[in-house]
Amino acid sequence: MTVRQWVCAAAAIIAAGLSAAVSQSGEAPLRLGDVDGAAIANADTHAGDWLSHGRTYSEQRFSPLDKINTTNVMSLGVAWEYRTYSVRGLEATPLVADGMMFITLAWSKVIALDAKSGKELWTYDPKVPGQTGRYACCDVVNRGVALWKGAVFVGTLDGRLVKLDAKTGKAIWTIDTVENHKHTYTITGAPRVANGLVMIGNGGAEYDSRGYVSAFDAGTGKLVWRFHVVPGDPSRPQENAALERALGTWDTTGKYKFWQIGGGGAPWNSMAYDPQLDLVYFGTGNGNPWNRDLRSPKGGDNLYLSSVVALHAKTGEFAWAYQTTPGDTWDFDSTADVVLADLKIGGQLRHVLMHAPKNGFFYVIDRATGKLISAQKFGVVNWAKGIDLTTGKPIENPDARYKDKLTIVFPSATGAHNWQPMTYDPQTGLVYIPAMDAAQPFVGTTTIDYHPHAWNLGIDFAAISDAVQKMIASGKPPPPGVGFIKAWNPVTQKEAWQVSMGGSWNSGLLSTAGGLLFGGDAYGDFSAYDARTGQRLWSMDLKTGILAPAMTYMIDGQQYVALLAGWGGAGGLAAFRDPKTALSRFQTNQGRLFVFRLGGRQSVQPLAAEGTPPVEPPPLTKADAALTQKGFALYHRNCLVCHGFFAQSEGEVPDLRLAPPEIWGQYENIVLNGALQDGGMASFKDVLSKSDVAAIRAYVLQQSHLAWDQDKTHKH
Ligand code: CA
Repeated sequence: MTVRQWVCAAAAIIAAGLSAAVSQSGEAPLRLGDVDGAAIANADTHAGDWLSHGRTYSEQRFSPLDKINTTNVMSLGVAWEYRTYSVRGLEATPLVADGMMFITLAWSKVIALDAKSGKELWTYDPKVPGQTGRYACCDVVNRGVALWKGAVFVGTLDGRLVKLDAKTGKAIWTIDTVENHKHTYTITGAPRVANGLVMIGNGGAEYDSRGYVSAFDAGTGKLVWRFHVVPGDPSRPQENAALERALGTWDTTGKYKFWQIGGGGAPWNSMAYDPQLDLVYFGTGNGNPWNRDLRSPKGGDNLYLSSVVALHAKTGEFAWAYQTTPGDTWDFDSTADVVLADLKIGGQLRHVLMHAPKNGFFYVIDRATGKLISAQKFGVVNWAKGIDLTTGKPIENPDARYKDKLTIVFPSATGAHNWQPMTYDPQTGLVYIPAMDAAQPFVGTTTIDYHPHAWNLGIDFAAISDAVQKMIASGKPPPPGVGFIKAWNPVTQKEAWQVSMGGSWNSGLLSTAGGLLFGGDAYGDFSAYDARTGQRLWSMDLKTGILAPAMTYMIDGQQYVALLAGWGGAGGLAAFRDPKTALSRFQTNQGRLFVFRLGGRQSVQPLAAEGTPPVEPPPLTKADAALTQKGFALYHRNCLVCHGFFAQSEGEVPDLRLAPPEIWGQYENIVLNGALQDGGMASFKDVLSKSDVAAIRAYVLQQSHLAWDQDKTHKH
């Protein structure tokens, strides 16, 4: 782009900003059929709507609405609520257009509501097979839909892209985005649409997948382009020159062939689009397996893992990539959101991309060229000392490459910042990050017990769990993860302020022209803060842990704030248990959509869990120590990702220690035959034997007795 084009583009942006001021008094009418690239690019002229995942193509999640503001937010209350009858994680951003609201729930279900009254208009259930629950690393979640010319697009957990009629919810077409079912692919992200192309990336980098992002014709569903994140079989020509170059950064001589067992790089979440440059940006995931010593034993950067990749949006041709974690070995996905903004840096207006991935650094990158402008730590980081601005590469701490020794790495695999979106507020010039500080114990393995469609990481979870158990027994447990909202100045790369949150795994964020920042936490508190100072101005207990970001919209002059509350995701399933909240949440993790307005109802009633049976004492156990030990290792290899370390669940999937009597007699039937498959407890027949299942049962039963003996009240 020439200087002259930049000036014109900047003028268009300023003009859009001016018309936003007009739109607040007289909303431009926008019908569902009118939602197209021009409407999304000029989102500020339809400020009462929320047309795309991050509201705008820039994904700033800043709303120009200001009727709810720092002077009156204290009277915010519930306008209406909608019960989802779900106990799994809720991560979606609601979209609003033409008086309708579109949300997604667990298992990729889509709901359309009247955005003013909350009346359910239609529901769509893609009927994702329960077995798929095993193939999603981090819960059966979905982060929302895309709108385009009267249609709603949703990606399903089993990898389909579905086009629905936005008025009726009827499916128009369904296509399979999975190019090879021998590998494990999911979709949890929200599609984006630009130039009439629906773009979506697939998850699966904890299993055996080769990541890619695809673009489909919004009219016909035809595949228009696909970009693979990592190289394929090195004996064949790669799909494009960028992958030919990438191949040189991988070792192809190792025992495990990355092109057979995956490679990883799954672009499962973030995307942003610059209409002037016609570049689409997406973040790529970790290496598969995690452990680089097994994936690429002689080292190498392993492009384009853990990177931001820019493609020409019409063709999918490679423009540039910036790798945040070369040679990733720590599950440092770079899939946190990518946010575009124009910032004055060193007296110059720079068109930048901002990104705060799991690895703990905040990056400001020139979004036309991919050149790094600046990078600083925004949390506790010990894997690297800093980023060399000349090379753009991290200055690594060599001890962080763990080999087969227990190594404590900061940030954790959950990340200093995960998928929960940050927001950029152009009024304060600050980026607000849902940040976490947590330690990750790593122990690598020297071989992979490889199974298709199972977790294949090259990490010894049994050794890690054993080490953690010993730390707990010695009275020095690993420090619990802590969470913050950090207000970050992207120009100076310094923190402006921070507030501590109730848990570590908290919600995404929203900023508004009312001077407000909205965020929720793991304990269920939803709050509004003064965006300048971080002072908490309003809060309400929603009785359920919150992950999803809030959004805001306006109908008939009334501004609303909407938020899905429902605990889960990676941090909800597999995090070390937080004793302050776990069991209480088990009783109340009932997903709900809340919509707020000024003068609304000032309290939220808890919902009783449906049909929770009374806890009964576990059956007697006669297991020997060897069997229990075998069960400990097998449990932590196969079960912990959903049911938690030491069989202690955070509550959105059953806490196995509290199982009713009939479950203890059904272990083989459940684990091997898939008796509870429809509910999401998949069969593990391809991975576990009958004697393995007996060992796992013995270990869980031991844990159950420990819990029963410790809890004198027996009230669970
Ligand atoms: Ca990952």
